[in-house]
Amino acid sequence: MPLILDGKAAAAAIRERLQQEVQMLAGQGHRPPHLAAILVGNDGASETYVFAKKKACDAAGFFSSVIRLPEEISEEALLAEIHSINHNPDIDGLIVQLPLPAHISEQAVMDAITPEKDVDGFHDRNIGKLAKGNPDFIPATPLGILLLLQHYGIDPEGKHCVVLGRSNIVGRPLSILLSLPGKNGNATVTLCHSKTQNLYRHTKNADILIAALGRPRFVGADMVKPGVVMVDVGITRVDAPELKSGYRLHGDVDFEAVSPLCEAITPVPGGVGPMTIAGLLMNTMKARRLQLQLQSHIA
Ligand code: NAP
Repeated sequence: MPLILDGKAAAAAIRERLQQEVQMLAGQGHRPPHLAAILVGNDGASETYVFAKKKACDAAGFFSSVIRLPEEISEEALLAEIHSINHNPDIDGLIVQLPLPAHISEQAVMDAITPEKDVDGFHDRNIGKLAKGNPDFIPATPLGILLLLQHYGIDPEGKHCVVLGRSNIVGRPLSILLSLPGKNGNATVTLCHSKTQNLYRHTKNADILIAALGRPRFVGADMVKPGVVMVDVGITRVDAPELKSGYRLHGDVDFEAVSPLCEAITPVPGGVGPMTIAGLLMNTMKARRLQLQLQSHIA
């Protein structure tokens, strides 16, 4: 039986530590961290994600605000909203839920968030610092994955980590982090994508295999070596009319077929998802500490 890497349990442990930090801040006369989330339009999945983030903030004792904006808002008006939050001393962290409507440039939006409040870690400055091994904010999903491995005492050092998917929010930053010197790094990393030839040759050699493709049940038993640590990032809604919700969530891994071969594996749901939110909370706490440092320098 593989070890199930339970993201809910690991995230609860992180939330507990953050609650203690909130109490410490209160003891020093400081308010809790405050996360603001901008939600544009009425996309069902985006609403679910933002609600889950707000709920996690409440559970950790953080303040949170959701700013709902209409689908047809102009890019200019959205950027003005971001600038106003950038200058609001009562808010420490800001996220803009993706995807955005097609008429708005995601890059322009990411670059408009001040790097000190960019708790998603998508600003060019934060990505650059990460690539140089000196990150301020690590994007929440890669951070959550590293924290999950750490929670279960799985050290990537010296291992061959194969990452499937090279997106800016998951695969690429994760591949960089795993290859950096130091804690949670020191791995030998192979980064695969849709143009990779003979994918099996790489996946079969992975000690730690991370699937971030968005292709339900793509990774089958014939793609992994026995004893692998399997991290499934994928979340795809697949129609299931028999269910009240009308859909089922599928990971990128065929769990039934692959799990008997694994030393450890993440479930979907309940694996990387809760850890992404835990990563976001960690970053928001970091942003709060940064704000306090800045204030003490000004005072
Ligand atoms: P994305 O931006 O669509 O990137 C997908 C990556 O997979 C691309 O690099 C693509 O290669 C690669 N790919 C697609 N088909 C492939 C194939 N047949 N063989 C090899 N590589 C292939 O996706 P993403 O934003 O990284 O998200 C990936 C999945 O993770 C999605 O299901 C998403 O919902 C999920 N996700 C989950 C969480 C969480 O908290 N659990 C957070 C973020 C994302 P190219 O670059 O060559 O096109």
